Amino acid sequence: MVNNLIPSIAIVLSLTNKRVVIVGAGGLGGPISYGLAACACHLTLCDNDTVALSNLHRQIQFQLSDIGTLKTTALCNTLIQRGINADKLIHHAIRCTADNTDLWLDGADLIIDASDNFETKFMVNDLSVAAQIPCLITSSLRYCGQILAVIPGKTGCYRCLFEAPPHNEFIDNCNTGGIVGAVLAIVAGIAVQQAQQLLTNDYTDAGTLFHFDNLEETITPRKIQFEQRHDCLACGDRS
Ligand SMILES: [Zn+2]
Repeated sequence: MVNNLIPSIAIVLSLTNKRVVIVGAGGLGGPISYGLAACACHLTLCDNDTVALSNLHRQIQFQLSDIGTLKTTALCNTLIQRGINADKLIHHAIRCTADNTDLWLDGADLIIDASDNFETKFMVNDLSVAAQIPCLITSSLRYCGQILAVIPGKTGCYRCLFEAPPHNEFIDNCNTGGIVGAVLAIVAGIAVQQAQQLLTNDYTDAGTLFHFDNLEETITPRKIQFEQRHDCLACGDRS
């Protein structure tokens, strides 16, 4: 029994001094923060939104009494109530941009995008490459989810794959497209696992897009491999 616990304890001990920035405290940011807080990571939680009634069916970290409260404040309170040391948590009620990185990026070992918009995902990717900090880009819509781990200098990046945000007319979001709550749990679980890998210098899954589609009735994500693009505006030779 004790021997079976040792690998888990070793992972937790190796992560206690790591700082992870989580951009977005909603449907993905909540369960991802649960998983990484349980590994004793230092967390910086960023979101400028407040909890709404329509969030509660998929953002499991919130409850009725949180409605109208800043998501970062409510999420921190929930984590502390679950036994997480408050000294491990920093929260900012801001929308992260490239112009306010002094508020949220300092000291990060890993950036996780858990936002709900393409502008932020590309911003996180580009900052990750520029600052040479690994990042995880996560997303979910309807029945689908995606996770991509980027290691600057070692793998291709989000912009190598998708190049630029789509035009507004082609963008669906959680308000118009909806999200199946169970998909969020699966995407967040894979993201936490990959975060643990990255923080322990295990790059097994880095640079591979994990695509999950619940309509396929399988919990195994499709793994899409791609090469770094030399003309990528973020990480290419001419960037
Ligand atoms: Zn790139």
